[in-house]
Amino acid sequence: MEKFDVIVIGQGYAGLTAARLAIQRGLRTANFEAALFGGLIINLNELDPVPQGAEHSGAELASNLAMNNMDQGVVTVSEAATTVERDADGLWLVKTDSGAYAARHVVVASGARLRKLGVPGELDFFGQGVSECADCDGPMFNGMETVVVGGGDSAFQEAIALSQFASKVTMVMRGSVPRARPDLVDLAATNPKLVRLANTRIVQPTGRVKKRWRPRVYSPSSAWYPTPSFCRRTCNAMLRER
Ligand SMILES: Cc1cc2nc3c(=O)[nH]c(=O)nc-3n(C[C@H](O)[C@H](O)[C@H](O)COP(=O)(O)OP(=O)(O)OC[C@H]3O[C@@H](n4cnc5c(N)ncnc54)[C@H](O)[C@@H]3O)c2cc1C
Repeated sequence: MEKFDVIVIGQGYAGLTAARLAIQRGLRTANFEAALFGGLIINLNELDPVPQGAEHSGAELASNLAMNNMDQGVVTVSEAATTVERDADGLWLVKTDSGAYAARHVVVASGARLRKLGVPGELDFFGQGVSECADCDGPMFNGMETVVVGGGDSAFQEAIALSQFASKVTMVMRGSVPRARPDLVDLAATNPKLVRLANTRIVQPTGRVKKRWRPRVYSPSSAWYPTPSFCRRTCNAMLRER
């Protein structure tokens, strides 16, 4: 079993920074990532505030950190850490689906999750009008009227980013005043596409969902389930047949 001084779980900004600091102190370091390095910042075109250095986009910052870490000798393990437990010698064992690794110290930097609104219809329209990333999905709303939910920093940042594409962005806030940083609120106030709706809650997104063909494949466990990769390869042909 491979042994490290430090295992860092997660390659978001926190995990990459922890791994950088550990390797700089001469500690043998492994950094686990279940998905893609960068975590939440990977989709941000304009960091504000910029956590460090001269990078302005999240992808740039994350890839510089990840590359520097690799150059310095951080071992990347591209797998989810599934369990962390102590062995009889007092070492930490970090297990993945394909193996186990030992370390004297473990840093859990497995990060944040974007919260859902929790209203009916939200999941039905997800990816078909309901989005959680203005930088990623903004171009799909080019020239359209849109709504951003929330009154904190992220909501203001997302609304400002979305205003580059949308014809109008209505910010729906539960409270009467924004909780965001004053400079973001001031910037939004000068943006003619942004309007604010206070003391208001989203109850339900409604509309018409375009009927999408969902391919189904028979699995060995007898369950039918949709598979996107199957769709990419065969959808067009099968859609023509329909
Ligand atoms: C819209 C928006 C705008 C923002 N703008 C800014 C900004 O301008 N400036 C700023 O400083 N901050 C900003 N933030 C906040 C910033 O994105 C987060 O504070 C930061 O990304 C959190 O980093 P993290 O490393 O803690 O977590 P994450 O970024 O969530 O990273 C956690 C990582 O751990 C991985 N992981 C989870 N579980 C496991 C496991 N079991 N095994 C292996 N890997 C695992 C995940 O795949 C993920 O890559 C913004 C956030 C949002 C939502």
